[in-house]
Amino acid sequence: MYSEKVMEHFINPRNVGEIENADGIGEVGNPRCGDIMKMYLKIEDGVIVDAKFKTFGCGSAIASSSMATELIKGKTIEEAMKVTNKAVAEALDGLPPVKMHCSVLAEQAIKSALKDYAEKNNIHIEGLEDFEPVDPHDH
Ligand SMILES: [Zn+2]
Repeated sequence: MYSEKVMEHFINPRNVGEIENADGIGEVGNPRCGDIMKMYLKIEDGVIVDAKFKTFGCGSAIASSSMATELIKGKTIEEAMKVTNKAVAEALDGLPPVKMHCSVLAEQAIKSALKDYAEKNNIHIEGLEDFEPVDPHDH
């Protein structure tokens, strides 16, 4: 049911934790399985120099957040904006269909943290205009 990569990132997740004085923090939630994902970004000169996460949720959500942080580290904001849930799922060699929403959550966590960064620094990030994260506290 789960790829080896999903299992591996679940058992040994990368970049778990918080970043003190993070430049952007995003928190999103998943109404379907109750996952909560919090993502912290350190951004210097438009480049994501560090990314960490705290995820309270199912194994796929943990594997998705682990992979998402790996995918965006070292990338520019523009490149990170292109990391879709599909890219996260593909990097994990696929997720079971009922767990695809966990990768959606990872994409939302990235965008939500970038939105926080944009608002704090009063900058415009292309593609975030219509972004509406799922509020974890609504459910
Ligand atoms: Zn989940």
